[in-house]
Amino acid sequence: MRGSPLMASQRPADDPCLADLSRTELGELLDGEPSYRLDQVWEGLYRQRRPLDEITNVSKALRSAIADLLPPALGLVRTQSADRGSTVKQLWSLRDGHLVESVLMRYRNRTTLCISSQAGCAMGCSFCASGQIGFDRNLSVGEIVEQVLATLQHPSAATSRSSGALNIVFMGMGEPMANYDAVWSAVERFHGDMGIGARHITISTVGLVPGIARLTAADLPVNLAVSLHAANDRMRDRIAPINRTYPLRELAKCLAEYRRAKRRRISLEWAMIGGVNDSDRDVAELAAYARPLAAHVNLIPLNPTPGYGHEPSPQSTIERFAAELASHGVNATIRANRGTSIDAACGQLRADKQVAIGRTRRRASPRVQSR
Ligand code: SAH
Repeated sequence: MRGSPLMASQRPADDPCLADLSRTELGELLDGEPSYRLDQVWEGLYRQRRPLDEITNVSKALRSAIADLLPPALGLVRTQSADRGSTVKQLWSLRDGHLVESVLMRYRNRTTLCISSQAGCAMGCSFCASGQIGFDRNLSVGEIVEQVLATLQHPSAATSRSSGALNIVFMGMGEPMANYDAVWSAVERFHGDMGIGARHITISTVGLVPGIARLTAADLPVNLAVSLHAANDRMRDRIAPINRTYPLRELAKCLAEYRRAKRRRISLEWAMIGGVNDSDRDVAELAAYARPLAAHVNLIPLNPTPGYGHEPSPQSTIERFAAELASHGVNATIRANRGTSIDAACGQLRADKQVAIGRTRRRASPRVQSR
């Protein structure tokens, strides 16, 4: 350890956390240590998915030196469980006080982690709690990766720490395509270092065309989900205002290119909002949009948020909507709404916490107007 930059306390710029460092950067910090030390720390963190202080084949002194220099980015504020412990939502405080959330959903033979890519969101989708709060800032790669590492330490994740049945979805707070570089570095860490296959990683976007184009050119064929919610421009301009910049036709063209390049089925997300986007006409428009793309549609009952005065469509309407899509030749799945009792829709736990602690929010400057 003598002569190691760690001992010289050379704190890298911007106070990164351990997960911000690439393997090469960590190797530079461990310079002066035997070369296998880097393998021990890196494998312990990412292959064995252990917290630093449990990587016991590395001396306690070195672990403490690393922890002092590269402290965690996330502090746990609150944990809420639902669905008999199989849904666990965690609210995290970043070092600058911004809040983000992640959700763990355990199913019979797999675990899905839903993580955030930004603190808040600038996209302003009318029904979404994050959109209602506004934008704080992008997360760093370490802040994104640490959500996964930290969430995997929850007892509900015990089986998925070791087994490969782990899915990661960027469906928490924020718009991943608006923080592309950090999101992509995190994807590479999940894939290359944690051994999570591209098919087990899903990026969900409101439809930022330049980001989707970058994804088309990238090498890993991750799953792409697009939050559509309306299939005519007039309505989508209102529900997802980014549609004014990247309207439906342009989005479809870009999605067709993604599909051609990756040969992967695209998912279209459709929050079922009572009386808003659940009519026969909506089915016909959605089917006409989805069919040429051979897209799969996920129907998600709206999780009501305080800032949006609508209710989810009744179950019978959702079932009729799904059947109608099928009759138009479009496959659809009705998604069970996990965690409704703990406000597990995007941004909701955080929104609730903000009311509770009385913080005031500034609307984001790059925000797209919602009306
Ligand atoms: N910005 C990205 C990812 C975050 S939102 C995107 O738009 O895809 C993840 C998903 O949750 C999106 O499909 C979003 O439309 C949906 N969502 C957000 N708030 C919701 C709510 N209140 N009820 C149901 N779905 C919601």
